[in-house]
Amino acid sequence: MINASLKQLSAALGAKQISAVELASLFLDRIEQRNPVLNAFVTVDRARTLEMAKGADARRAKGESGPLLGIPLAHKDIFCTEGWLTTCGSKMLANFVSPYDATVVEKFKQAGVVTLGKLNMDEFAMGSSNETSHFGPVKNPWDLNRVPGGSSGGSAASIAARLAPAVTGTDTGGSIRQPASLCGLTGLKPTYGVVSRYGMIAFASSLDQAGPMAKSAEDCALMLNAMAGFDVRDSTSLQRPTEDYTRDLDLPLKGLRIGLPREFFGAGMDDDVRAAVDAALAEYRKLGAVTVEIDLPNSGLSVPAYYVIAPAEASSNLSRFDGVRYGHRAADYGDLNDMYSKSRAEGFGAEVKRRILIGTYVLSHGYYDAYYLQAQKIRRLIANDFVEAFKVCDVIASPASPSVAFRFGEKSADPVQMYLSDIYTISTNLAGLPGMSLPCGFGNGGMPVGLQLIGSWFGEARMLNAAHQYQLATDWHTRMPPDAG
Ligand code: GLN
Repeated sequence: MINASLKQLSAALGAKQISAVELASLFLDRIEQRNPVLNAFVTVDRARTLEMAKGADARRAKGESGPLLGIPLAHKDIFCTEGWLTTCGSKMLANFVSPYDATVVEKFKQAGVVTLGKLNMDEFAMGSSNETSHFGPVKNPWDLNRVPGGSSGGSAASIAARLAPAVTGTDTGGSIRQPASLCGLTGLKPTYGVVSRYGMIAFASSLDQAGPMAKSAEDCALMLNAMAGFDVRDSTSLQRPTEDYTRDLDLPLKGLRIGLPREFFGAGMDDDVRAAVDAALAEYRKLGAVTVEIDLPNSGLSVPAYYVIAPAEASSNLSRFDGVRYGHRAADYGDLNDMYSKSRAEGFGAEVKRRILIGTYVLSHGYYDAYYLQAQKIRRLIANDFVEAFKVCDVIASPASPSVAFRFGEKSADPVQMYLSDIYTISTNLAGLPGMSLPCGFGNGGMPVGLQLIGSWFGEARMLNAAHQYQLATDWHTRMPPDAG
């Protein structure tokens, strides 16, 4: 059961081989056993979860069905969940109980999903290793001395250890794909605007997207069907016809043109990662796809542009945490200004403060033109590169991360080293494109390697097709860490 696909779980629920309550209990028991070591969940509420599961069973008893009815899922703690703590990995929100549901959470509830709990993450989604969480680091189930990736580290670890069959994540610069890669699972960041950001605590609003993380592309497609859709409460949500993201899964790959960016296959990638990715590309050629070399000439500027734009937006978004309306407030303070500064000084961690300072700097008078405006121009150039690339290919492939999961402390002292772990994922966010990571083998230390696929705008169905066909031909996505089973 713990390694079953969502489709299999749904069939078992439909055939009454298992009830939603039994299924939720199975995962709750696993969480109880493994979470003290892994630290993937920050909030578990057995009674509340079982109540939801009973509700799903009642809906099935009344004759209702649906691909996700009674399926247990967990949410990254960036999504507001009514009645549950929503901490965003921060001391600032350590006691915040949301009075409402994020649209994503609401949509899953309507589909009959049972919430298993809330997942640990880097503070305000800033990080690539889950080491910035106020609630402590998450361990990688494949090797407890290594990071699970970030910022959706709890999300990734929970699936890898089979504490949840699938979960939600968010991706501003790679936070779904990089941890999916480091933990050996499949995760998808949709085209910007496809999934509502309402109720998802904002980091960098022009880059943030929610997406599914699961064992397979097929599971991600099923989840995306429930998550996507126009929402009047998000001004950047797109009004488009409803799509069935599973519709192209079974198409053959004959003739699929896979673009390989020259810039991504140069120096900087570890040899073990290169070997696994090369083998995956060979498999794709066997399946009938052709590979073509492409150029993304401005991609080398993506990390610097991102680290101007994302902190700029973060400094603005995080100004709402002032100790007045909600969140942490200092116990002792003098006047109002003192209350603001003490509350923020105590409530935010070092990485969040670094981003706020950078963001405030690049937006300030005299520096705005020199940094922020330049970064926005580069962003446009990067998007234009992709427009050209997609004239000659259908999807783009690369590694999701330049290395397998690194050890705790290895990069945390050097922010630039840490920022470079998103070198292959960030340009996708800057351009608003969909991207995903899927397991394609193992590298040094027996750690998983992820293959990144990037689709054209609204090209999720084609990208999922490419991922699914690969997963039909290989079994990397079914592998579990030794002590998961
Ligand atoms: N690691 C990147 C950062 O620290 C991306 C984070 C994310 O996608 N939320 O900003």
